[in-house]
Amino acid sequence: MINNIKLDKFRDIETPFYYYDLDILRCTLDLVKKESELAGYKVHYAVKANANPRILKIISSYGFGADCVSWNEISCAISAGFKPSEIVFAGVGKTDKDISAALRDNIFCFNCESMPEIEVIDQLASRQNKTARIALRINPYIEAHTHKYITTGIEESKFGINTWEIEEVVKRVSSFNNVKLIGMHFHIGSQITLMSVFKSLCTRINELQEWFTSRSIPLEIINVGGGLGIDYENPEKGPRFQEYFSLLNEFIDVLPGQILHLEPGRSIIGQCGSLISRVLFIKNGSNTMFAIIDAGMTDLIRPALYQAHHKIENLTSKGNIYRYDVVGPVCESADTFGKFIELPETHRGDIIAIRSAGAYGEAMASRYNMRDLAKSVFSDDL
Ligand SMILES: *Cc1c(COP(=O)(O)O)cnc(C)c1O
Repeated sequence: MINNIKLDKFRDIETPFYYYDLDILRCTLDLVKKESELAGYKVHYAVKANANPRILKIISSYGFGADCVSWNEISCAISAGFKPSEIVFAGVGKTDKDISAALRDNIFCFNCESMPEIEVIDQLASRQNKTARIALRINPYIEAHTHKYITTGIEESKFGINTWEIEEVVKRVSSFNNVKLIGMHFHIGSQITLMSVFKSLCTRINELQEWFTSRSIPLEIINVGGGLGIDYENPEKGPRFQEYFSLLNEFIDVLPGQILHLEPGRSIIGQCGSLISRVLFIKNGSNTMFAIIDAGMTDLIRPALYQAHHKIENLTSKGNIYRYDVVGPVCESADTFGKFIELPETHRGDIIAIRSAGAYGEAMASRYNMRDLAKSVFSDDL
């Protein structure tokens, strides 16, 4: 919650800015730590959700690993205190330069998405006289029931190795000298709110486990990826970690000697961030009123990119309720945060909070229109 003391401080800060409530972050991390330790799971935070150095430092201090999708992310994670031996590297298009750098850093594992990628990792590892640990990212063909841009485990997805290829891939990998297969990896999408989707994933994982067991191929790691959604309608609500962990516990047959890995991103960082903005102008449209604010799609692209809904609050006005189209200043009609949003009568200068913006907000910011990047402000500093 944004209380009055913080609000008074907001008035002196140049908008737009990202506000991170670190108490909420720590509270979330406490819960994830407790639940994961209880279950014996290893958590790798998905850095792409939010790579703010201060946030990364806090998350690494909890002893979690990091899930990275570029060497720049790996490098930031290491600078923030994550141990290279607890970093995994995912992505469908890893460059030679990034693979070589990750090998030099001795990261824990490459989550591999195709045979050609594994061949390149083998060659590059051999140049460094190393053996790269790899896990196969397998496409489990599960519909995640989320926005199509963040659905990643269905037949037409570019991600993962198809099940019909596994046999051939495993055979070839065993003939390579510089890669070692240590696990299976999955990530079926993001902002998943239907628990039944994760249950289907568990069932698929068990079937694949049997396939590997029947061929006496031992796997140390079962990595279920991320994807746990948050409640954008109710920013005060935390993610359903307990339910999620107990579902994994109940439905995945983790074999003796295996460790279950998880890669939560959004669920860790989403609810602790808000994008804070000022109203520039109220403008009458033909059948709507526009509240034009100083934050735009360059600061938070999710509404424009995924038609995502974020709760919008006017923090400084208390009048009668009216409906507004809350829009940004960028020269794109998609630069709209919400249509027909109920707000107390809104005026130039009012402070607006766009909630649940901690994940894929600051991380996806751009400088389109040559706009400045929004700064970040932390609750501990106010
Ligand atoms: C994006 C991503 C994640 C994190 O997903 P969230 O929905 O933010 O939890 C985890 N693993 C992989 C491989 C990813 O690409």
